[in-house]
Amino acid sequence: MTLTAPSPTPPTDDLDLPATMRALVKHHAGEGLAYDDARPRPTVGPLDVLIRVKKAGICGTDRHIWLWDDWAASRIPVGIVTGHEFAGVVAAVGDAVTKFEVGQRVSAEGHITAGVDYNSRTGNAHIARDTKILGVDRDGIFADYVAVPESNVWPIHPDIPDRIAATFDPLGNAVHTVMAADVSAKSVLISGVGIIGLMAVTVARAAGAARIYCTDINPPRLELAKKLGAHAAFDAREGNDWIDTIRRETRDEGVDVLLEMSGAPKAMDQGFHALRNGGTAALLGLPARSVDFDFNANIIFKGCTVLGINGRRMWQTWYQMEDLLLSGKLELDEIITHEFPIERYKEAFETMISGEGIKVLLDLE
Ligand code: ZN
Repeated sequence: MTLTAPSPTPPTDDLDLPATMRALVKHHAGEGLAYDDARPRPTVGPLDVLIRVKKAGICGTDRHIWLWDDWAASRIPVGIVTGHEFAGVVAAVGDAVTKFEVGQRVSAEGHITAGVDYNSRTGNAHIARDTKILGVDRDGIFADYVAVPESNVWPIHPDIPDRIAATFDPLGNAVHTVMAADVSAKSVLISGVGIIGLMAVTVARAAGAARIYCTDINPPRLELAKKLGAHAAFDAREGNDWIDTIRRETRDEGVDVLLEMSGAPKAMDQGFHALRNGGTAALLGLPARSVDFDFNANIIFKGCTVLGINGRRMWQTWYQMEDLLLSGKLELDEIITHEFPIERYKEAFETMISGEGIKVLLDLE
């Protein structure tokens, strides 16, 4: 069954803004996205902030949507505007909006909840059961304009440039994972150094990790992980000797913390092997399907703590991320590798999907 988004209706407001806009739309149940240069601009509800998008990041999620894999086919309504990582400027505000004004630089938390369920009301809105995600469940930000509830809008600090602010979403995933696991003065293994894994290296270093190890199956990414502050980086395809190396360097105990960023079953198993008894594992990587996993050896007898990490805490993670960025300790320049105008979106996606680019941005200026 293919999910279909309701067709967009032209705005009926009297805002002094164009009625149509550029957008990347999931136009059919198959590979690719379509460029639409006359998509109706979103209308602005009383509690909405209308944002003129300036820079957008292409995420692993967008890659799934582009490739139209099983997950995308089961989740994404055909016809929506995709994309969720962005920086922009407020273009208009609804009548009841009080915290933002036109011209302000903003980004937004892409996980939108009505705020009425148990977790939303107890400080855990990032795991609300009614979460709708920008560019996944509702129109996203690969477009000139996006309407977002005021409660999800985040003001961008004047010292943080748009190209960095466009990565708040994945950087926030990395910050959330690192901070949840409490890495200060501890040895840390990051399994999987894709975009968020690499971000986690620089975040863990800034957060005071004593020693950072990385694994992946991509040698250039492993080299970059070392440049960003990893003490050692291992190719996981080359056996399990690296686990012995880690043990030798950690009093024969294993690492204090595992940050699992790959979702690869083998990496998960290796990572838990390298974790010391009583350690903490924070899991962010998503396995493609159910995993055969040794709970006895890896969790129960090990007495470890396992944390599932989803999204970003609202707004604790965002404040932590801002402070880390303003500290000047995060190194993101080599992670944000490419930028293309939105019209060249095909090249941008190819650069990201081929692995040539790490974080690839779209420019909508
Ligand atoms: Zn993302």
